[in-house]
Amino acid sequence: MCGIVAYIGTKPAKPILLEGLKRLEYRGYDSAGVAVLDGDLSVARAVGRVSVLEDKLQQAGGFGGTLGIAHTRWATHGSVTEQNAHPHRDDRSGIALVHNGTIENYASLRKYLEGKGHTFHSETDTEVLAMLIGELFDPERGIDLEKAVQAALKEISGAYAIAVICEQEPDTLVVARKGSPLIVGVGNGEYIVGSDAAAIIAHTAQAITLDDYNVVKVTRDGFRTSNLDNVSLDAKIQQLEIDLEEIELGTYSHYMQKEIFEQPASIRNTLRGRLDLSEGRVVLGGVSNFAKELIKSRRIILAAQGTALHAGMIGEYMIEELAKIPAECEFASEFRYRNPIIEEGTVVVAVSQSGETIDTLYALQEAKDRGALTLGVVNVVGSTIARETDAGVYLRVGPEIGVASTKAFTGQVAVLAMLSLFLARRRFMSPDASTRLLKELNLIPEKIEQILTQDATIKAITQKYINRENWLFLGRGVNYPTAMEGALKLKEISYIHAEGMPAAEMKHGPIALITDGMPVVVIANRGAQYEKVLSNIEEVRSRGGHVIAIANEGDDRIGSIAEDVIYVPETAEPLSPMLTVIPLQMMAYHAAVLRGHDVDKPRNLAKSVTVE
Ligand code: GLU
Repeated sequence: MCGIVAYIGTKPAKPILLEGLKRLEYRGYDSAGVAVLDGDLSVARAVGRVSVLEDKLQQAGGFGGTLGIAHTRWATHGSVTEQNAHPHRDDRSGIALVHNGTIENYASLRKYLEGKGHTFHSETDTEVLAMLIGELFDPERGIDLEKAVQAALKEISGAYAIAVICEQEPDTLVVARKGSPLIVGVGNGEYIVGSDAAAIIAHTAQAITLDDYNVVKVTRDGFRTSNLDNVSLDAKIQQLEIDLEEIELGTYSHYMQKEIFEQPASIRNTLRGRLDLSEGRVVLGGVSNFAKELIKSRRIILAAQGTALHAGMIGEYMIEELAKIPAECEFASEFRYRNPIIEEGTVVVAVSQSGETIDTLYALQEAKDRGALTLGVVNVVGSTIARETDAGVYLRVGPEIGVASTKAFTGQVAVLAMLSLFLARRRFMSPDASTRLLKELNLIPEKIEQILTQDATIKAITQKYINRENWLFLGRGVNYPTAMEGALKLKEISYIHAEGMPAAEMKHGPIALITDGMPVVVIANRGAQYEKVLSNIEEVRSRGGHVIAIANEGDDRIGSIAEDVIYVPETAEPLSPMLTVIPLQMMAYHAAVLRGHDVDKPRNLAKSVTVE
């Protein structure tokens, strides 16, 4: 979601800032802006893509300095206009600021600042912070930019990552965070700040990750980290774990397509070194210190949002089925605010690709406060959720750039399968049964490869229904969440209305929606409820719906009752979502492309949702 890039060094800042913004384009945004300090501040802002801002900058003079800040905005307060785009400036001290997040008490602060004679030019919460810093900035009384930022942030409630510059301190960049991610890349005589490693990796792989309430003052000669009370803190420089090639598109047309096709390799990475087939054991270094507590846990709550929620729902089935521990998955946002009950033996698992999803982060903090053991199932190494949980398992699927999550989903399911088997084998499952399942898990990547070879067929099937505005996705058991995920994928990038639900639920209401020719995708792999799924297919057909079945290879019954069939290899039932979801991802991708949408920049959506 929304992006920050800032630069201080010896090179012209403008091209570095623009390149950084382009690397963040995948996160989704509505407007962009840049401020460069070269004696005076030069500021440019534009609604739309970074290229619009770039065109504007080409015509403008100025912007020659070696210190600057830049932003892509995902509006939370105030509509999408140039006035509301960042950077925002104060009206007295020559301050410019970019901000990710939301300031919850902005209305009262604005009133206070208006009372002091400040004039506002935008509807945003962010401008309030720029004005407040300007109000507090008083170099004659020793309040320099760093101190003014610290003092202003003490007055703020909400979430923020900010970068601030000031005409009166031409060699200083001040950055800070609470809730929203921010990292300071340390180069050779230069620093590049980014809300995401993608913005800085082309320049340096050394970086400081900020914790909540950290303020970093960066000059060309070095940096100082402090808290809001101006107490100096040690900051560790760490190695970023991404490569530039991993975030390049290569020969693919879209990141989503690339990531769908990467899944055999990404799941191999997820599983690598973690399956001990001879002993039927799963080796998870990240949670082994807590094995005893986990084995004895009485209840596991999975908290997540969006696609990660669907992975968590599959985790709920797998944990109960395999490890025999009561499990439930819920919206992190609901868990956080409903006074949840955490008893002895409750474990809370936060599932998030970015590790920065704020709803999930807050749920995790609430669970910790109430004494739960917390685990993270996260992709981005060193992210906030990864740091704040007691233990966790990384997905290791590589950077996911596509806004519609694909390889992170299968990675999350693979990790939750391993976590279930890690517990199962230490509780009631025999070594033989565990080995059988681990062998099946190990075969998932090559089975995905087989599904991917059907790309042309899947595209042709999608084409048949491309003009239909309403789709249903049905599944049972562990594939009910897969159906939800299929519907979400279609909604996200093709803007087709789709509902996913348990196949049995359809007759309790949604069946009223079925009209002649309506596409109904049914996950009908051979499992415990296969016969019941066939009955549900008949119910759809008798009302004129057209069934696209996801079935197992060798199923010769399904062809006679479904209009279209996409075949996937068989596997152990709890693991099947990692296969059945692949055609659904491919259908969503093709639907979006066939409808002429920009798959990697879907309307209104952002990657890594860092606001509540
Ligand atoms: N709340 C701020 C705004 O609406 C920042 C949003 C963002 O994170 O991009 O301008």
